[in-house]
Formats: sequence, structure tokens, C-alpha cells
Amino acid sequence: MCSTSMPLEPGFRGVICASFGSTGDTAGRDTGDRPGYKLRFTSANPKTLSELRSALERSRVGARLLLAGPPADVHAAAAAAADCGMLDEEMTLLCDENGPWVVFCGHCHVGTTTKQANGSEVVCQGCGIVLATTDHFSRRRGGYLGYSAHAEEAS
Ligand SMILES: [Zn+2]
Repeated sequence: MCSTSMPLEPGFRGVICASFGSTGDTAGRDTGDRPGYKLRFTSANPKTLSELRSALERSRVGARLLLAGPPADVHAAAAAAADCGMLDEEMTLLCDENGPWVVFCGHCHVGTTTKQANGSEVVCQGCGIVLATTDHFSRRRGGYLGYSAHAEEAS
């Protein structure tokens, strides 16, 4: 079993398996003939994301990333990985569909974490308007975009 206290060797070309929360589990995932390096985080926050970034920076082109957990964490990690130059096809996202996810306000650009079903209305934590969630996913922001649900009613 891999341990996060073991530093990732420079030039690692295997699969970095990062899981978030209690539901995110990369155990038993087949990494093929590549070595696996496991990272386990409680959530995606600036500290854990910088740990992930440094792991990605130590690995070489050709490494793969497997992310598992609630969509909010998996998407934030995928956005951080994309920042490091990781390509979509180098990442595998395993989202727990019942976990919290993030909707980004199209007006104030603040992200709101919610557990509501996709498609329902969510109150923006930034500006307080009611957002209609969409299935427009922004890889860069790590969440789905939301728009004012009652724009046509506003005067
Ligand atoms: Zn807002």
C-alpha cells in the first residue's frame, strides 16, 4: 500500500490516484501495468490542491491522473491539474453523483457548493440571486455555470 508520506519520485510516469472525502475511492482501480501513486485528501482546498500540483510537477509528461470523490472536489482538482498542463485525455474523473458539486454564478463568478440535483435552483453565495443550474461545465472553473433563474422578471 502506498503512503502519502513517501515522496513521489521525480520523473514518475505512472498513475497518480487522488481521492477525496469518504466516498472517493481509487482502490481496486486498474492502473494497468503502470505503477500507482495514491493521494488521499479529505477535500479539495488550497493546501491539498498545492500538494496535488507539486505531485504533478514532479511527474513527467506521460503520467496519468485518476481523480475520485464528490464532483466539487474532483472538478476543482481537475482544474488545478489542467493548470499544470495536464490534458483532458490524461485524466480520469470518477464522480460520486450524490456528492456536492459547484455551480458558478454567471453574474458575480462566485462558486456555490450545493447538493441539490443538477437542474434545480440554487441561491448564489456571492450575490444572493437564484441561479438556474445548467449542464454547461467549465473545466477551467471546475464547476457548472448558473444563470439568473428569474432574469426576465427582474425590473
Ligand atoms: Zn452571484
